[in-house]
Amino acid sequence: MRMGDFYELFFADAEVAASALDIVLTHRGEHGGVPIPMCGVPVHAAEAYLARLIRRGYRVAVAEQMEAARGRVGKGPLKRAVVRLVTPGTLTEDSLLEAHRPNLLLALAGTNPLGAAWLDVSTGLFETQALLPADLPALLGRLEPAEILAPASLALGDWQDRRGPAMGVPPDAERRVAAAFGAASLDAFGTFSPMEAAAAALALEYVRTTQAGTLPRLSRPQPAGTSGQMLLDAATRTSLEITRARDGSAATTLLAAVGRTVTAAGARTLAAWLGGPLLDPGAIAARQDGWSWMLLQSDALAGLRAALRGVPDVQRALGRLSVGRAAPRDLLAVAQTLAAARAAAAALLGAPFDVAALEVDPALAELLARALADPLPARIDDGGVIAAGYDGELDAERRLRDDSRRVIAGLTLDYAQRYGVASLKIKHHAQLGYVIEAPAVAVEKLRTHPELTLRQGMANGARFGNAELAELDRRISEAADRAAARERLVFATVVQAVLAQAEALGACAAALARLDVLQSCARLAEGGRWCRPHVTEDDAWVVRAGRHPVVEGALAGTGSFVPNDCDLSADRRVLLLTGPNMAGKSTFLRQTALHAILAQAGLPVPAESARIGIVDRLFSRVGAADDLARGRSTFMVEMTETAAILHQAGPRSLVIVDEIGRGTSTLDGLAIAWAVLEALHGQARCRTLFATHFHELAQGAAQLPRLRPHTMRVKEWRGAVVFLHEVAEGAAGRSWGVHVAQLAGVPAATVRRAASLLAALEKTRHGSPADLPLFAGPVPDFVPDALPDPLRAAMDAVDPDRMTPREAMDTLYRLKALAAGSADAVTAGEHGVASA
Ligand code: ADP
Ligand code: MG
Repeated sequence: MRMGDFYELFFADAEVAASALDIVLTHRGEHGGVPIPMCGVPVHAAEAYLARLIRRGYRVAVAEQMEAARGRVGKGPLKRAVVRLVTPGTLTEDSLLEAHRPNLLLALAGTNPLGAAWLDVSTGLFETQALLPADLPALLGRLEPAEILAPASLALGDWQDRRGPAMGVPPDAERRVAAAFGAASLDAFGTFSPMEAAAAALALEYVRTTQAGTLPRLSRPQPAGTSGQMLLDAATRTSLEITRARDGSAATTLLAAVGRTVTAAGARTLAAWLGGPLLDPGAIAARQDGWSWMLLQSDALAGLRAALRGVPDVQRALGRLSVGRAAPRDLLAVAQTLAAARAAAAALLGAPFDVAALEVDPALAELLARALADPLPARIDDGGVIAAGYDGELDAERRLRDDSRRVIAGLTLDYAQRYGVASLKIKHHAQLGYVIEAPAVAVEKLRTHPELTLRQGMANGARFGNAELAELDRRISEAADRAAARERLVFATVVQAVLAQAEALGACAAALARLDVLQSCARLAEGGRWCRPHVTEDDAWVVRAGRHPVVEGALAGTGSFVPNDCDLSADRRVLLLTGPNMAGKSTFLRQTALHAILAQAGLPVPAESARIGIVDRLFSRVGAADDLARGRSTFMVEMTETAAILHQAGPRSLVIVDEIGRGTSTLDGLAIAWAVLEALHGQARCRTLFATHFHELAQGAAQLPRLRPHTMRVKEWRGAVVFLHEVAEGAAGRSWGVHVAQLAGVPAATVRRAASLLAALEKTRHGSPADLPLFAGPVPDFVPDALPDPLRAAMDAVDPDRMTPREAMDTLYRLKALAAGSADAVTAGEHGVASA
């Protein structure tokens, strides 16, 4: 609640805010005989406190004074009204936003299918999608919404704490959404399912509520669909650390490793590209053509980079302008962006891609150049935002105001002579207005003049007033008020002029962001160590000397990263990788998955060459992270994710399976790993990378024609293990676990004991790993259900022709019991059937 120079909170709000903000809780007045708890923050520092409240998950309603305190007739409280609700999903202030990430509000409607609509109030992005409930976790993982509006019945899993207030879908959703963009029907914008339209209407309604009725600038809703994008489920996104690392940091992500953007909007665009790799080779090639051309045109590239440097975040500035929350620097941001766009367009003359969006009506740039003062004050209330000479009336008001100041200077001299007090000053005082300030020695002298009234004594002097000063005070403050009011008016017209071009400016900002990403790609490719991948419609996969961008970055300076080839051509599309712990298996697997993402996002790939057939779905089951918070064991998580892969992977998919079956006993794990490998090979027929420390698995390779066993090369040197980080065809001879234990610093005696135990075990267990029952016979491509089925066996044993009606009846009951699965019944039933 705005109270003059403070925002104050009362009652329970005050108690919550005082502890959340760590500010003093006091009391003011009383209510029903009880003191009213109160706390407050100064208006000039409010944004920082707001940021803290939002980050701690609170929503804030801001009530402003709707009339000026000064010159008001009548008593009683000032008129106040809530002008805004500040919620995590509807922020516009830079201090509340992460520059490099979108801040999305997601609305969900319906049950099955669902409609989703997400928008970013700060940049104007607005997209929708129809989806099945099963695909919701993947969507949430991709969008990372700041706030979610969803039916109460819809479970949000890990995202539950982002749930916003419960709101019903407004009636007549399609018409409402269309009307918000001045159209009669949504058809003009694309094809939306009824639930997409409902979700879009819900999102708009919520934003309108939070902004107290005004709708911020938003692009027309776009039905995004995922048809054009590689499918990445939530587990895959997390395990590959694309835009967010497992520990929540941003430093070790793919985004950080490949990001060479120089603007905030460019960084957001790059994150969106990596988050949604494309499926259309043409669209991918268009991006590649962009940065390939830049690589060849070093002058153009240098010019573009110079233009981009220092481009402000105009998308977010436009967002603030559209909700009337703009600071002067937001207009400056527009002016600087227009200048940058002109420079970029000049640098890119002759480029093979369309840069028409960089051209915005030059009249706007010219208007801003004339209107904005230089230097520009931080706040419109500071005055002096509009340059002299732009508006005649404003100039006149200012002259009047400044004249009065000259009058005061004259008056000071005048009074000093009249009263014989040289040190006398005329000062402006908040409560008293203009007063004469005189030092202690002069006070008695001044009190003898009847036209002067003593207004206030001070420790070292006193303040006097007279009729002339009172009149002057009125005139000056009126002139200043009029100048300030005029300036606000002019400011508003300039804002309107900018908003009239909002669509063109938005397109221009998007074009600059895209160019920033392209120059970032060119930067990566500049050294010649990142290649332009050949992306094809088929299921090819040959990467020569590929590297892991994040691990390579981490090794920079210490050792050099060992590149590896990866060939998943049709007749060898399942790559089984064995090798000891720490040999580099996981790194090789992840780098392959990252290559797919980079290639289809249109980026260069860290390899000598790459031929990549479009991957429609990417699954990565890497590492065994416990999910204790949800009460599921490592093994359960692993199996749940494996089930998802087996259900969804197809011939165009890429599947990465790392160390499956580690969470259970050795034999269990080995059996499950083999069964999954078989299913991926025979059923899903996807390109597969399968890493395991069960080196026995490689023995089964002969059974699976498209499987190629590979191993991480390891050398033994003076009894210790040395990892070469090289992927080679063939099988690992042994597991080296004991050597790794030694490497890790397990005491020598323990290592020796383990080595002798291992030798003993190897002698007693099997003659050779190939004797394992797993590989006993030829394995068909697909075994529907290999488990023995007691019911079927019992049925087979029944001979109806030789049964009495009584026996037939008994048998029927036993079979029924068998089907119900009772162990007793099984035994009894088998006996019964046999005798029958
Ligand atoms: P594994 O999965 O076989 O246990 P990792 O892939 O986790 O092994 O790799 C272990 C460590 O080895 C990595 O953290 C990295 O430091 C190093 N490493 C992996 N691959 C390479 C490589 N190709 N070149 C150099 N170092 C590597
Ligand atoms: Mg590993």
